Amino acid sequence: MQVANEQAVFESTDVSGTVIGYFAPKMFQGMAATGYHLHFLADNKSIGGHLLDFKIKEATVYLQPFTSIEQHLPIDNQKFLNKDLDIADMHDQIQKAEG
Ligand SMILES: [Zn+2]
Repeated sequence: MQVANEQAVFESTDVSGTVIGYFAPKMFQGMAATGYHLHFLADNKSIGGHLLDFKIKEATVYLQPFTSIEQHLPIDNQKFLNKDLDIADMHDQIQKAEG
């Protein structure tokens, strides 16, 4: 997966903003990136994206448990249906991108 190999990494300090994401148990590996998957957007929109690491000085935390998951697949797309996926390679690339 080329995107994971070319992921740009930025660092910033003393930024206020919003972190949003989810926690997926290991049993959902492949359907989602398991563990914590968090994204950030600065209040002034100066920086944002997938979070690899961070420290929080002060935060308000909201949690929402999910009791169901829906996945929509493009079953009318022949290219999707004929795609030969290398699942092991996809898993390795997700691990590299998500840390
Ligand atoms: Zn992400």
